[in-house]
Amino acid sequence: MENPLLLMIPGPTPVPEPVLFASARQPISHRSQDFRDLMADITVHLKWLHQTQNEVLILASSGTGAMEAGIINFLSPGDRVLVGCNGKFGDRWTLVCEQFGLITERITAPWGKALDPKRFRQHLEADLDKQIKAVIVTHSETSTGVLNDLETISRHIKAHGQALSIIDAVTSLGICPVPVDEWGLDVVVSASQKGYRMPPGLGFVCVSPKAWQAYETARFPRFYFDLGKCRTDAATNTTPFTPPVNLFFALQMSLTLMKAEGLSAMFAHQQRLMQATRAALHALDLPLFVPDHYVASPAVTAIAPDQVAPETLRFKLQQQYGVVIAAGQDHMRGKLVRIGHLGYVCDRSIVTTIAAIEAALK
Ligand code: PLP
Repeated sequence: MENPLLLMIPGPTPVPEPVLFASARQPISHRSQDFRDLMADITVHLKWLHQTQNEVLILASSGTGAMEAGIINFLSPGDRVLVGCNGKFGDRWTLVCEQFGLITERITAPWGKALDPKRFRQHLEADLDKQIKAVIVTHSETSTGVLNDLETISRHIKAHGQALSIIDAVTSLGICPVPVDEWGLDVVVSASQKGYRMPPGLGFVCVSPKAWQAYETARFPRFYFDLGKCRTDAATNTTPFTPPVNLFFALQMSLTLMKAEGLSAMFAHQQRLMQATRAALHALDLPLFVPDHYVASPAVTAIAPDQVAPETLRFKLQQQYGVVIAAGQDHMRGKLVRIGHLGYVCDRSIVTTIAAIEAALK
């Protein structure tokens, strides 16, 4: 199943063949013992991936569906939330919150820079009557390639005592450490087409006991994305609605492969790919959008090329070398290109991409 194009975008990522083959079989009944066995196995492995005892629920959705579920299950109209914004996905969280009538306050940083944890501390310390109900942080900002300091920010959220942490780990889970229990994260959202090394189609929401308490009093209407229903059914290894069972086969295989590799080996591999990419781009004199003094995301590297128009570079890579990289997003479209090196990407893919960029610059 050779792909004629080398997919080097920050998701969907290439998928290992055993994972593709696992899904290429006849569906099974989602009300059968076989499905319950499948789901039981997946559940154990999802907890392992999240480094948690909390429940991890599976949705038939993309990451944005999981974001929406992360809001509507734990909050109520008119609640105050604090959102970290330093890129497109922080902005998307704000949009979702505003769409549902939440009162949104923002801690911002320019695109390409990291959120300052101190500003979260100051903002939360000033909330003396504990009105802020949730703090939303995008761990790896895919639009820029910055990794925010989630460990420190989550410590400040815990010190507040009242607010839930709602974390976008869409391009960090499975890519760098997101130790949910150790950092005390309440709601953690992810999606299958990123660090899971799977096709798109599944969203995940990991929920702490504190978040389940908030669920009891949360007042947004919900039906398909009602995580309480998922939780009740997950207790007997089933789902409220027909799940994409073939993606569940793929998920089981992918988690099995990841478990055999081990979390630290996976994270070390991703880190090495990021470092190799950055070193090579430096050597080609291509300006990295995230400077060395910020922590770079191991998922994606953005460059703002000055020797060639970004869109020309992207076009040439695909047309001449079959290498697909991503464009900048929103106001950075036409100003950036982004190289994804997350998921099932190997050294050879990085070498090929860099060689293609070097040739395209000539
Ligand atoms: N959050 C982050 C950090 C992302 O990178 C993405 C997708 O790229 C999303 C949320 C939204 O996920 P989806 O496109 O699967 O809806």
